[in-house]
This record gives sequence, C-alpha cells and structure tokens, in this order.
Amino acid sequence: MTITMPKTYNIAVLKGDGIGPEVTDATIKVLEALQDSSQNLKFNFLYGEAGYHCIETYGTNLPEETITLLEQQDACLKGPMTTPETPGAPVSAAVKIRKMFKLYANVRPCRSFPNVKALKPNIDLVVVRENTEGMYSGVEYEVAPGVGVALRIITRKASLRVAEFAFKLAAKRRKHLTYVHKGNILRITDGIFKDAVKEVSLKHPDVTIDDIHIDAATMHLIKKPESFDVIVTTNLFGDVISDEAAQVTGSLGLAAGANIGETYGMFEPVHGSAPKYTGQNRVNPIATIMAGSMMLDYLGEKEPAAKIEKAVMNVLGEGKVRTADLGGSSTTTEVSEAIASKVKSL
Ligand code: NAD
Repeated sequence: MTITMPKTYNIAVLKGDGIGPEVTDATIKVLEALQDSSQNLKFNFLYGEAGYHCIETYGTNLPEETITLLEQQDACLKGPMTTPETPGAPVSAAVKIRKMFKLYANVRPCRSFPNVKALKPNIDLVVVRENTEGMYSGVEYEVAPGVGVALRIITRKASLRVAEFAFKLAAKRRKHLTYVHKGNILRITDGIFKDAVKEVSLKHPDVTIDDIHIDAATMHLIKKPESFDVIVTTNLFGDVISDEAAQVTGSLGLAAGANIGETYGMFEPVHGSAPKYTGQNRVNPIATIMAGSMMLDYLGEKEPAAKIEKAVMNVLGEGKVRTADLGGSSTTTEVSEAIASKVKSL
C-alpha cells in the first residue's frame, strides 16, 4: 500500500489592523476546511506582527522578526493594515513588503458575482498595477512652507517587467490589454511607461492593445466595464481604478489582490482596515477568502483554489448568507462558516 504524504505549505499570516483579524480568521477557517476535506494538502500557519497596532511595542509597523518570518515561508496571507497619515509616521507596511520582496505586479481581478447587484452584468477584468514605484516611491518634501513636492518615479525596467506580466496574463485570457496613463500631461514618466508597454507588445502580437487616459478610464469603467479584459497601469492609477472596478461589480468587500514577484507572493484584500467596523463581525470576508484562493493558485494548487472559488460562488448564488454591503444581515463569521461548510461538501 502506498501512503501519499500531504503537500505541506508554510504560510505567513499577518492579521493586520481594524477589520484585518476578523477577515483573516474567516479565511483561515476556510483554508482549514479545505485541509480537513483533503488528503493531499496541509497548511502550517505562522503568525507575525505587522501594522499600526505593533508600532508602540516594536517602534515599527514591520518588525525584523516579521521580515524573517516572511522570508522563510512559501507565501503570505495578509490582512489590511492602518497607515497613519502624519508626515514622518512609518510608511505603509504593505508598501514596504511589496518593495522589500520586489512584488512588482499587483493583480486585482474584478468580475460579476452571482446574485450580487452590479452596475453592469458580465464584468470580468483584471487590473495589473505596477507595485514598486510611481507615486508610492515615498519620496516627498516640503521644499518651502506650504509647498510640497512628491516624486513620481517611473523606470523603464519596472515598466517592462509589469507590462510583460500583464501581456502574459492577457494571452491566457481574452487577449486584450488596455494600458492606462496620463501621457498627455506626465509626458516623461508616462512616456517611459507607454514606450515600455509598446515594446513588450511586439513580443505578443496575439494580444490586441488599447491605450486610454486615466480620467477617461474611470468613466469607461462605469459606462462599459464589460469591455475591459486586462488593464495595466502605474501604481496610483491602479490603486484608484481597482477600488472603482470593485464597487462597479458590487462591493469592495469582494475584491481580492495578489502581489507577485519573481520568488514570493503576498495575498490580501483590496480594501483597507475599515476602522469604523472593527470588532463588529459585520464586514464581508469574501475579499480575503478569495485572496486565499489566489494564494493557492500561485502555489500551483489549482484544484483547491477553484474549490474555494466555487464555494464562494455557490454561497453567493444561494443568496441566503450575505453581509450588509451586499444587502444582507449575516455576520462575518456566518459567511465564513457557510463557505467553509460548502468547501467540505464539494
Ligand atoms: P477601506 O477600504 O478600509 O474602507 C473604505 C470603506 O469600504 C469602508 O468604510 C467600508 O464601507 C467599505 N469596506 C471596506 N472593506 C469592506 C469589507 N470587507 N466589507 C464591507 N465593506 C467594506 O479604506 P480607507 O477608509 O480609505 O482606509 C482605512 C485604512 O486602511 C487606512 O489607514 C488605509 O491606509 C488602510 N489601507 C490599507 C490597505 C492595505 O493594507 N493593503 C489598503 C487600503 C487602505
């Protein structure tokens, strides 16, 4: 008799701030249900501290111990974190991790969900956001009292890298890529970005390309979101339009994101820590649960990833268990329990 050992993954878990612990715990519950119902899959969850809540104890929002923990695991599941807005406060822990681990592509799928009221039907798009530079380079000065300058750093190297990622993704989907920029105003920085996209497009003749200014893109996302397949753009534009696209498909509470580099991946909801809802057990955990599914897909576990997705779709499709953002009254716990039990039954 042959005994098959389960494939074991070590997952760093950062619960984050605000609603982070609630949506992360909900996701762990679903991953554990998957593990319980599978002979072939095992997870070791290794918890680390990061975010606003640990500044007082550690003097930083990303302690050295956490960086070491992240380095040693297969991937990271991250809850949202609060970032103080005062000048001189620690830079966002998410931004630090993205830069430190060179997680250059922020992949944010947005699509129609069953039984979820969206602005338009049949939406299925992915925003690929450059994740390491642009307006998030963190270089900002007050050059004279009342005069501030922020550096928007765009390099050919990072633009080529993210463009290549987006083209490869588009090639596996509907073979349509839209690059979003503001090249009419930001001629040098977005000129570099546009040139890089056009250069990479020569290697992918099967993918048709369109370019569109960011202001027009926000309008088209409302007017005809179903016309987009893959969108590639710079850091800040990508952050803004992925929140917009998420709401167009129903709720920010459904939108998951992957931060992908050459050797590491971090998975998180698109939304933030929504501090006003902390501890109320009422927010939607599906964004983080879907981030868990994206993490499994990244690890090569296609079937378990699809199982989580199917469980989410089934629970939404049945329409009985849904949080307030989707017009229901279920708690975060009830939604995660319904999805976990569906995972076990599939
Ligand atoms: P937010 O995404 O936290 O919340 C905006 C609104 O979206 C909420 O008030 C709520 O109405 C809705 N929402 C968000 N998540 C939801 C969920 N799971 N279910 C239902 N509704 C949900 O954005 P914000 O208020 O701009 O930011 C709050 C904090 O989060 C800030 O400190 C910000 O820096 C941080 N943030 C962190 C990340 C990250 O860790 N990656 C991302 C974005 C914002």
